Amino acid sequence: MNRAEYIERLFPADPILCQTVESISQAGLPAMSVKPELGKLLTIFVATTGAKRVLEIGTYGGYSAICLARGLAADGSVTSLEVREEHARLAEANIARAGLTSRVEILLGDALTSLRTLAEGGSTFDVVFIDADKPNYPQYLEYALSMSVPGTVLIADNVLLRDRVLDESNQSPSPVAVRAFNQTWMSHPRLDATILSAHDGFAIARVRN
Ligand code: SAM
Repeated sequence: MNRAEYIERLFPADPILCQTVESISQAGLPAMSVKPELGKLLTIFVATTGAKRVLEIGTYGGYSAICLARGLAADGSVTSLEVREEHARLAEANIARAGLTSRVEILLGDALTSLRTLAEGGSTFDVVFIDADKPNYPQYLEYALSMSVPGTVLIADNVLLRDRVLDESNQSPSPVAVRAFNQTWMSHPRLDATILSAHDGFAIARVRN
C-alpha cells in the first residue's frame, strides 16, 4: 500500500462519490476525476470561504462538481464548463443522484467560449477550479483573474503533468503551456500563490485584497 492508498482508505464510505466513480468506469471512460482527498479539499475551500459563486473548468463525470457543490453556502451555485456532451450527460446524472441538480449548472461547449460569455456578462466567482485541457491553462488563468474579486480562491490540478514540466527540453504544447501558467501563477502581483507537489501538482492561490 502506498501513502495515497493509505489515506484513501481512511475516508468514510461515500456511496454518492463511489457511484460516480463506478458510472465513469461503466461508461468505459478513464479514471480522471480528482482523488477523494482533493475532492474533500475542494469542499473545505468552498465552505471555509463561504463561496456562493463557484466556477469549474472541466466537469468530466461530475465528481469534483459534487465536491464543490457540497461546500456551498445556502444560496450558492457551481457553474461547470464541459466540451464533451457525453461527459456532461454523465455528470448531470451523477449530480442528480447527489441531489445537487439545482446547485450545479453545466455549460456545454468549449470552455474559452463559455468563459468569454461569462466575462462579458460581468460574472464574478469566489472559487475557481481549473481542471481541463492543459494547453489552455494560461488563458484559463487570465479569465479566472478577470472574473475574480479580492479573496477569490483559485485552484488548478495537474500542474506538474506527471513531471513533464520539469524537463525544459520537452517543448510539447502541454508542458510549455503549464510551465508558463506556473510562472504566472507564482509571480502574479494579484495572487498569493503556492503549488503542492502532492499527487500531480495542486496549485492554490488567493486573490489579494
Ligand atoms: N474536474 C473533473 C473531476 O475531477 O471530476 C475532471 C476533469 S477531466 C480531468 C477534464 C475534463 O475537461 C474532461 O471532461 C474534458 O472533456 C474537459 N475539457 C477538455 N478540454 C476542454 C475544453 N476546451 N473546454 C471544456 N472542457 C474541456
